[in-house]
Amino acid sequence: MKIHEHQAKELFQKYGVPVPRGRVAFTVEEAQSVAQDLGTLPVVIKAQIHAGGRGKAGGVKLAHTAEDVAAVAGSILGMTLVTHQTGPEGRLVRKVLVEEGLDIDKELYLSLLPDRSTAKLVFMASEAGGMDIEEVASKTPEKIVKVYVDPLVGLQPFMARKLAYGLRLEPDILKLFLPMVHALYRLCLDYDASLVEINPLVVTKDRRLLALDAKMNFDDNALFRHKDVLAYRDLDEEDPLEVEASKHNLNYIKMDGNIGNMVNGAGLAMATMDIIKLAGAEPANFLDVGGGASAEMVENGFRIILSDPNVKGVLINIFGGILRCDVLAQGVVEASKKVGVKVPVVIRMEGTNVEQGRKILQESGLNLIVAQDLKDAAQKVAAIAKA
Ligand code: GDP
Ligand code: MN
Repeated sequence: MKIHEHQAKELFQKYGVPVPRGRVAFTVEEAQSVAQDLGTLPVVIKAQIHAGGRGKAGGVKLAHTAEDVAAVAGSILGMTLVTHQTGPEGRLVRKVLVEEGLDIDKELYLSLLPDRSTAKLVFMASEAGGMDIEEVASKTPEKIVKVYVDPLVGLQPFMARKLAYGLRLEPDILKLFLPMVHALYRLCLDYDASLVEINPLVVTKDRRLLALDAKMNFDDNALFRHKDVLAYRDLDEEDPLEVEASKHNLNYIKMDGNIGNMVNGAGLAMATMDIIKLAGAEPANFLDVGGGASAEMVENGFRIILSDPNVKGVLINIFGGILRCDVLAQGVVEASKKVGVKVPVVIRMEGTNVEQGRKILQESGLNLIVAQDLKDAAQKVAAIAKA
């Protein structure tokens, strides 16, 4: 799960990581009153959306006078911000963060995330902060310092110092940096974060070190033990179909293709997406209904796939183990009758009660294409993709 910058900054503050003074505002009037409370100019007005690259896209602006505050807040609130992370459709800005403007001397980069290949946590730091870090990583990888932390051993003081030296911090800033590294490590672990990122981490002209930007992502499977993070969830920032799917405990991720698919088991779902690609088409989603799916879950899953306007065909690929083929077939038929299916649906199923399942499909009177096996299913999907 992702959260907003202003929410991540609340967590940072809890852990003693300095951030600029500021508050979130939903209206121009609120923005003006935050600016007044801050009692300083300029202030920075920042669009709050779950995507980076706001600065370049016009979602982060300075306001130098009281009149400016109203004008800038008015221009950002309600705008559809298109950044390299939002996709061409962009995101509607519903709130802004109004912060004291700082006199920046240096912009650094610092992040912490689990590294799957080493099964450790990795800190990444760079003097090239404020920029697109993916670009730094691909063009000038030598500008990124990495420090791996074995979670069983924990963060050691020398590791924080190695990051500090990599950033070539001067002694007064180094003193502020070391405890910050330890605080971020605790924050990441305590909250089961999958990413903590500060870009930029700034050194100000008056020699302070602050997180000017803040990003945190969380492991969804651990959210049950972080009620405070769950309270940060913003459904406006999530894909409506994914929100709908999560209500029914379905493991659904929307994608860009046009062949919808419903599968039981994550591994089979991945393989099915490969098959769709091999057939010359692109998957419109990932959907794992789970091993023990009920007819109702199948129905909900099918309905969600069909409500994606991009979907031009559907492949249902089920191995009937705990989920019996007749239960699946019943769910598909029920859903088809309720939703009304306007696209071809190919079904491949195998396993428990497969004969009964096929019979239910064939006698349903619906236009469902029953595939003999996986190869046959792939060919039928390819035909749909070509049509
Ligand atoms: P992002 O583009 O979505 O990552 O948004 P950031 O929060 O990183 O802001 C983008 C850029 O705005 C930063 O890299 C800074 O250069 C600039 N910026 C943000 N706040 C201030 C500020 O208080 N003073 C100054 N001078 N620049 C700022
Ligand atoms: Mn940033």
